[in-house]
Amino acid sequence: MALQSICVFCGASPGANPEYRAAAEHLGRYLAEQGIRLVYGGGAVGLMGVVADAALAAGGEVIGIIPQSLKRAEVGHSGLTRLEVVDGMHARKARMAELSDAFIALPGGLGTLEELFEVWTWGQLGYHAKS
Ligand code: AMP
Repeated sequence: MALQSICVFCGASPGANPEYRAAAEHLGRYLAEQGIRLVYGGGAVGLMGVVADAALAAGGEVIGIIPQSLKRAEVGHSGLTRLEVVDGMHARKARMAELSDAFIALPGGLGTLEELFEVWTWGQLGYHAKS
């Protein structure tokens, strides 16, 4: 079955290299053009905001999942198809995984790495069969 939703993990900062921003824009636009829903952390800052804005600008569907405690720090995006506010980080990751058929990591920091490695190990343990 074709992919319907892809989860993107990426930095809440724009990063040092302008190529990171270009890559986030490209990916957001590409997903929208392919008719693939973007699932991400729900923020409007950093590469998270860039990938979401690019997908929205290209007419794509974007679902953000953000913990209540981070709505202010990561500036919960107000223009998404849907913003889900959850209780904490574990709920955020579980919901992002539940809604997605596959996962992509763009440049980011510790949070991006943590999210990537956790969902990767869930696959290794057989909790899901997503790539
Ligand atoms: P960073 O890569 O550090 O810029 O963080 C990218 C995103 O990962 C941000 O939205 C963080 O809130 C999020 N994040 C950080 N730690 C965790 C975690 N343990 N579980 C889920 N998301 C996290």
